[in-house]
Amino acid sequence: MGRYTNPKCRLCRREGEKLFLKGDRCYKRSCALSGNASLPGERPKKRRSRMSRYRVQLREKQKVRRIYGVGERQFRNYMEQAKRKKGITGDILLAILEKRLDNIVYRCGFASSRAQARQLIVHGHFGRNGRSLDIPSTILNEGDTIAVKKGRRDRVKDIVEANKERQIPNWMEKNLETMECQVVAPPNVEEIGYTIATNLIVEFYSR
Ligand code: SF4
Repeated sequence: MGRYTNPKCRLCRREGEKLFLKGDRCYKRSCALSGNASLPGERPKKRRSRMSRYRVQLREKQKVRRIYGVGERQFRNYMEQAKRKKGITGDILLAILEKRLDNIVYRCGFASSRAQARQLIVHGHFGRNGRSLDIPSTILNEGDTIAVKKGRRDRVKDIVEANKERQIPNWMEKNLETMECQVVAPPNVEEIGYTIATNLIVEFYSR
């Protein structure tokens, strides 16, 4: 995706909710959304103006794109893939996003944020099933194991230590000692931890 270089907290303020884009700071009082949130560039308002249906759909789509750090074209591709599969399209879309390597590195606590996960991945700190892997958008499958490469453990151990208490989804199993994480089941969208109205996103792409 085109790299977004402005302050990340702006994106949360734009969506009016915490998207957890900055790692540790998101869980502290220093989070920009700890107090009253206003749209970037605006003075705090008591109420937002009424949005059209299109705008509501657009904002929901943008919110999810920003949470996972996915560009528009790739997001649209994921939606196309989801539509081709049997089942609830919105849930399938979320499951695809959850299976991205950068998300899994973040979820299992080997990075403080998805952005940091992407950086660590492209710098070659991880492997999948014993083979090097440096593409953050790689979709993992059930049974896949990712691990911090042996020669890189010293470089990420502080990050792993700082995030070791993070609760991981039930569809993953983590081994802190070996710095490995295995995908043991399909992602459970109930465990995502964000409120996402996927029907709005499906509607957006069905227009
Ligand atoms: Fe969003 Fe995190 Fe910034 Fe809070 S600290 S506004 S959750 S990016």
